[in-house]
Amino acid sequence: MQVIEHPVEKLHTALLSTRKDLIETYQQFSRPEKTLLEEGLVPGNSLFKPITINSDSDWIPAHPEDPQDFQSFYVNPYRRSPSSGHNTIYIQTIGELLNFLKKKKPRDAFCIVGITMIDLYPRDSWNFVFGQASLTEGMGVFSFARYDDHFYQRSYAGRLKKKIKLKQGDYSVFEDYYTPPVTSTLLLRSCKTLTHEIGHIFGVKHCQWLNCVMQGSNHLEESDRRPLDLCPICLRKLQSAIGFKIADRYKALLHWLEDGQHSKPTQAFQDYKHWLYKCLRILEGETS
Ligand SMILES: [Zn+2]
Ligand SMILES: [Zn+2]
Repeated sequence: MQVIEHPVEKLHTALLSTRKDLIETYQQFSRPEKTLLEEGLVPGNSLFKPITINSDSDWIPAHPEDPQDFQSFYVNPYRRSPSSGHNTIYIQTIGELLNFLKKKKPRDAFCIVGITMIDLYPRDSWNFVFGQASLTEGMGVFSFARYDDHFYQRSYAGRLKKKIKLKQGDYSVFEDYYTPPVTSTLLLRSCKTLTHEIGHIFGVKHCQWLNCVMQGSNHLEESDRRPLDLCPICLRKLQSAIGFKIADRYKALLHWLEDGQHSKPTQAFQDYKHWLYKCLRILEGETS
């Protein structure tokens, strides 16, 4: 196992940048917010761990990419930010998504993401079905079928019995598709994927700084090793695109986790919940 440990000065520059105006906007974070962001860069801190490489099939050795610091994110002309008329992220099951596709994207959409439990890529030839889905245009379609622990078993109930040839625009295969029970592991994996992919829609590239949901991932074991949330550098990118108080983000996430009204399995989120509380204690000015 290899640990990627960047010197703290390097992470600091990746977070603040070298441009005077960007260093100045960084000063708009409150003191506790800065404490959280900067404590996270110090080796051995309890909130943000370094990235580990477990094998050559992990993302970083398999896909050499330039790391994206805050400044290169900020100056990228292709990144997207919500605007006052386009500020809703729609997450739709595939049936609703297809209705939207017929009628065009809702006016106030920042992006629209379709989700399904049917395996979208049982064969390479299926790629064309959603070949138009594009992150740069604020649209994506994701299948969580392979996140089901039973997916690779022969008896998986969602497996297609025979090869079907699909014509462009024929979506009838999605009409009564099998939906596996939603376990907390399935939910956690799906949340990680959605957070990661929606991060790309904002223009956040793969993270090579610290353990982070924006790390690239080549296989399920590597995705499982990724945390659900953003490292300080990627958090600043998202914050600059949307503009929020960091504590509000964490409180909203906790609210979703603890909302008993819409019962959902959250056992697999326990570590994340403790992490959110720890961050909130720092943001509320208590010592960590
Ligand atoms: Zn990615
Ligand atoms: Zn990151």
